[in-house]
Amino acid sequence: MSQRTIAEKISCTGIGLHTGSPVQLTLHPARVGTGVVFVRSDLSHPVEIPARRESVTSTQMATTLGVGDATVSTVEHLLSALYSLGVDNVRVEVDGPEIPVMDGSAASFVFLIRSAGLFEQDAARPRLRIQKPVEVRDGDRSLRVEPCDGLRVSYFVDYAHPAIGRQSLESVEIDGETFENDIARARTFGFLQDVEALWRNGLARGGNLDNTVVMDEHRVLNDDGLRWPDEFVRHKILDLVGDLSLLGLPLAGHVIAVRGGHALHTALVEAILAEPSAWVIEGRDAESTLGPVTFQTPARASA
Ligand code: ZN
Repeated sequence: MSQRTIAEKISCTGIGLHTGSPVQLTLHPARVGTGVVFVRSDLSHPVEIPARRESVTSTQMATTLGVGDATVSTVEHLLSALYSLGVDNVRVEVDGPEIPVMDGSAASFVFLIRSAGLFEQDAARPRLRIQKPVEVRDGDRSLRVEPCDGLRVSYFVDYAHPAIGRQSLESVEIDGETFENDIARARTFGFLQDVEALWRNGLARGGNLDNTVVMDEHRVLNDDGLRWPDEFVRHKILDLVGDLSLLGLPLAGHVIAVRGGHALHTALVEAILAEPSAWVIEGRDAESTLGPVTFQTPARASA
């Protein structure tokens, strides 16, 4: 497999979930080994923010990346689409502090990437292959990754709410087709009481029924209802794949998530990176710099 970028630059505009302000997003093709790099183009000195674990500054509500004072939040849905469609190298220019929320899912980003087209680059695409399990826990929540040929995800959620309850999807193979058909259109969800508290505190100002599935104590409030009865667990998989992409290169492993969230997703990424005996990097050629350049294990990285 070769590394890929997008065939041409492409833009879209939407509103930020938190600020409620318009923000323009432009994806630019990028050279081999770049990875995914966010650029805050509205700052007097544009700041580059690599989509990697070490850039994570917050996992409250959404995943936020930053370098110094420059941050970009709500990156996970775009990252999930880039990862699943196999875009390794791209510069993501954004003229504000967050990625536009669009309809609360990754569908618009899939459309954007498909419209730009993909370009195969002349360099091998390395991947991180799990060889023994790595697990993180927080009370009754857990994430575990086990050896597997490609990326597979099993996700289990359990909300004491009549619209959700227990939902699970098991052994979902994450490739472009599955992602586009079964995952990308699943939207962000929230509960009315939480949303109202956020609004009172000046947060989630861009959040509304056009970009969030909102529930009161009994039911879903959106007029059109759900896109799937189990849209909630599908969205959790969407979020997880975006957060896993912060590894910096494709993952070969089966991730089993029980009631996860952004904090636990990124904790698993950190635990994997901290445990080099649990994985090998495959398919890295001499010129390839894609992948976790910050790894302290160059001898293993050449395996
Ligand atoms: Zn999400």
